Amino acid sequence: MTDRKGVSPAQQAAIAQTETWGAHNYLPLPVVIDSGEGAWLTDIDGNRYLDFLSAYSAVNFGHGNPVLTQAAIDQLAKVTITSRAVFSAPYGPFVKALAELCGKDMVLPMNTGVEAVESGIKLARKWGYETKGVEERHANIIVMANNFHGRTTTVISFSNDETARRNFGPFTPGFRTVPYGDVTAIADEIDDNTVAVLVEPIQGEAGVVVPPKSFLPALRELCTERNVLMIADEIQSGLGRTGKTFACEHSGVVPDLYLLGKALGGGILPVSAVVGNRDILGLLHPGQHGSTFGGNPLASAVGLAAVELLKTGELQQRSSELGEHLHKRLRTLIGNGVDAVRGKGLWAGVDIDPYLGTARSICYKLLSRGVIAKDTHEKTIRLAPPLVITEAELDQAIDALVDALAEARAEKG
Ligand SMILES: *Cc1c(COP(=O)(O)O)cnc(C)c1O
Repeated sequence: MTDRKGVSPAQQAAIAQTETWGAHNYLPLPVVIDSGEGAWLTDIDGNRYLDFLSAYSAVNFGHGNPVLTQAAIDQLAKVTITSRAVFSAPYGPFVKALAELCGKDMVLPMNTGVEAVESGIKLARKWGYETKGVEERHANIIVMANNFHGRTTTVISFSNDETARRNFGPFTPGFRTVPYGDVTAIADEIDDNTVAVLVEPIQGEAGVVVPPKSFLPALRELCTERNVLMIADEIQSGLGRTGKTFACEHSGVVPDLYLLGKALGGGILPVSAVVGNRDILGLLHPGQHGSTFGGNPLASAVGLAAVELLKTGELQQRSSELGEHLHKRLRTLIGNGVDAVRGKGLWAGVDIDPYLGTARSICYKLLSRGVIAKDTHEKTIRLAPPLVITEAELDQAIDALVDALAEARAEKG
């Protein structure tokens, strides 16, 4: 199950076991990881790799971040799961700190990102019926083409990725798709039953697609004017990835609801949340929504520590400065094996010249040079190292990319 030469027998055995007993819903790179520290991962044979995927931005704070690990260990020794049937000591401080980080009133914690999306959809519909006065069961939500919001039945209902949808219907109604970045198309779709516009401020899985500069401010204005909620899915773009706490900040825009996940769990466990003001989150009453694990003491302790790391602004600054360096170097590759570079901060989508091969073929070459990066679609490599990476490590990975492209070119003759 591997197309990379030189995989050791031990790794081959581990891969074979995975492929035999585990469902094949991913196409992993042929490397078996044993441990991680900072921006580095080590495989079971002791080979080291720079992690340029960061588990899709779940590991923004780096592997084994000492502050987050200590917060987890301290909480592990006390109590880990209580359910929300009782109050727990870390829960209050966590929701207060996260609400303050977002400049909002209230937090609804869940576990995975897609649960935050589902919760945001439920809240927007409830707000529509109870506050806006939308006719019951007629609410619609406007979504963007090429979105990625997760994999549940409702969320794939408004995906246009056929691989993610085929043979999983029937789908949930109530969603309308418009081209990403087109505020006129959104304005045309809004009617009296529209409760929300759901948007990624930068589309991650689509290939780190940055919308036109005017898009988010115009969307914010439109949503306010037409009494429609603006929901920003910052699950991948948020928490420092783009050089600010939220990608929306680059446009000076504040959404009505933030959807957060991935890095909120500090790279330790799944923690997600919907964050907004009381006029929306205050509509939830006991029994109307919930999750056994949402906001559990361990998640709250780690989530609080993650928020505290972001409060200083240091990581955002790092991401911004090192991101400029990353993008500057990547731009020099345009025309040299690279067709285009997109992104912000320590987040880049790099389109590989199809003449040199697929993005995946370049990812294999990166792997053999000690860099783990993942393709998205045919021609894009996504680069998203932990924000704790050093400039030297960053340069090492970019050098590996330059070298991988040179090798691909040499193979073409
Ligand atoms: C990853 C992601 C999700 C889904 O998060 P899961 O934790 O995998 O459920 C939703 N939205 C965006 C933008 C994402 O990148």
